[in-house]
Amino acid sequence: MREIYKNIYLKELALPNNPLKHLNFYIIKGPEESMIIDTGFNREDTKTDILDVFEQLDIKPEKTKLFLTHLHSDHTGLASYLEEMGLRVYASKIDGNLLNSSVEKTDPMWRNTLQHGIWQGLEEDRLVIEDHPGFKFRPTAHINFIPAVPCDFIPVGEYNFEIIDLKGHTPGIVGLYEREHKILFCGDHILGKITPNITFWGFEYGDILGTYLNSLDLVYHMDIEHLFSSHRFLVEDHRKRIEELYQHHDRRLDEAREALKAAVRSTVRSVTKQLHWDINSKNWDDFPKAQKWFAAGEAHAHLEHLRALGEVTMEEAGGVLYYVPVPGL
Ligand SMILES: [Zn+2]
Repeated sequence: MREIYKNIYLKELALPNNPLKHLNFYIIKGPEESMIIDTGFNREDTKTDILDVFEQLDIKPEKTKLFLTHLHSDHTGLASYLEEMGLRVYASKIDGNLLNSSVEKTDPMWRNTLQHGIWQGLEEDRLVIEDHPGFKFRPTAHINFIPAVPCDFIPVGEYNFEIIDLKGHTPGIVGLYEREHKILFCGDHILGKITPNITFWGFEYGDILGTYLNSLDLVYHMDIEHLFSSHRFLVEDHRKRIEELYQHHDRRLDEAREALKAAVRSTVRSVTKQLHWDINSKNWDDFPKAQKWFAAGEAHAHLEHLRALGEVTMEEAGGVLYYVPVPGL
């Protein structure tokens, strides 16, 4: 653990067998009340790590807030455990409700994930929900969260954090901005080196890649000196990193356009196979099952963005979605 700014501490919580390696766990220590941001996976050694931090910093659970940036299990795995210890949990309405709808295997989150897989043409890959990392490490109890409403403020010690809507990586991801100190806790919205996963969440969330790009735009124009992200190293220059992320998605969109041109109509799966992935696999069959879910979801988000731009149309046949380029483009 190290102090990265006055009364703001960072402890790396291990995420074993996960390419993200660890979660940057942030603690803001106040004279009365403190706040922690996110929790790591629901694992015994993570509990021990967090309890050690509480002890070292003399933090009382009943005088501490837990702010959840978004629903992913590496951020929320211990939310119900910490709530039971007496912490007050803050989450955005959208992600908090989604989190509470993902406890049981039959809950809407997993039914929808399976349905998206069928739409994407993944049926022949014979994936089961147990292969989905989100399912494997899901929280096992509901949380009674206090809604984190964008534009509201959460004061902690000398800091006054404004809740910022960063939707895109998940439908309800939120960050915390300290205007005076030019600090933004951004969760997985912007990461150093790795590209945040942008996936299809269902048609009710519209063009989620477009939404993400708008949220990048918002942060681009913010006055930030310290960008505290949830994984890997801390980004020095947020504008430079955002430009790299724009370029990444532009390249991806171009790859998707090329893939679409090669066929009369394409499934999400067939486009996914033709995109370039930073994965040590010879071909699609060799892809780890967990990565098939992620890759197809990401390709789908890009296809839906092309549809929002008017470059492709989509039709359904036999329960599978097909994407067709608009002639003349
Ligand atoms: Zn995430």
